[in-house]
Amino acid sequence: MADLTRGARRGLLIILSSPSGAGKSSLARALREWDPTIRFSVSATTRAPRTGEQDGREYHFVSHEDFEAMVARGEMLEHARVFGNLYGTPRAPVEAAMAAGQDTLFDIDWQGGQQIKESALGHDVVSLFILPPSIEALETRLRARGQDSEEVIRARMEKSLAEISHWAEYDHVLVNDDLATCAEQVKTIVAAERLRRGRQPWLRDFVRALGEEKEERA
Ligand code: 5GP
Repeated sequence: MADLTRGARRGLLIILSSPSGAGKSSLARALREWDPTIRFSVSATTRAPRTGEQDGREYHFVSHEDFEAMVARGEMLEHARVFGNLYGTPRAPVEAAMAAGQDTLFDIDWQGGQQIKESALGHDVVSLFILPPSIEALETRLRARGQDSEEVIRARMEKSLAEISHWAEYDHVLVNDDLATCAEQVKTIVAAERLRRGRQPWLRDFVRALGEEKEERA
């Protein structure tokens, strides 16, 4: 009997972007609590670790020289300059996850999202953009972190507004008015994207096997 449970699916590349302060990290956490098999893509960055951040968990904290060397060796799937620092996605873990049919979650900006979408892996991308409910809410959330200087907050606010201008390049756009509601929406989108016909190449064989069984029984 053809078995519906054995279908291998290619891994999905879930790109989550938002201006900082729109609740993206909390949404990423909620998504991975819902499905712990989703791998988080740990980016490399030249920025200094913030309090509580661990090397290898939030980011791989690297020197400028090491970052440039990784780019030169073709080890970055994408990279960009954000707030004066370099950020990039190491390629190898993403390719390994895809080959194993495992989904990867990216917390990257619009520049990174665009580069991955235009890459050979573009067909497997689903991109989500998270908007804050208002500009005031965004500023309040940025200040609430309490870790950055006034100058940094102002620069982030400016950058956030620039980031928002790219919302139309994303497949899905969500307003994070209420975190629990928005998290449910993110999960629903991922669940639906996994079921897209084109993402389940095994279905062809399965349906063929069903047809053969039908003929045998006739
Ligand atoms: P933060 O320094 O606050 O952790 O991140 C700043 C911004 O850089 C965020 O918008 C985040 O999504 C983005 N970012 C983090 N990692 C990457 C990456 O690997 N590539 C790109 N293009 N952006 C990244």
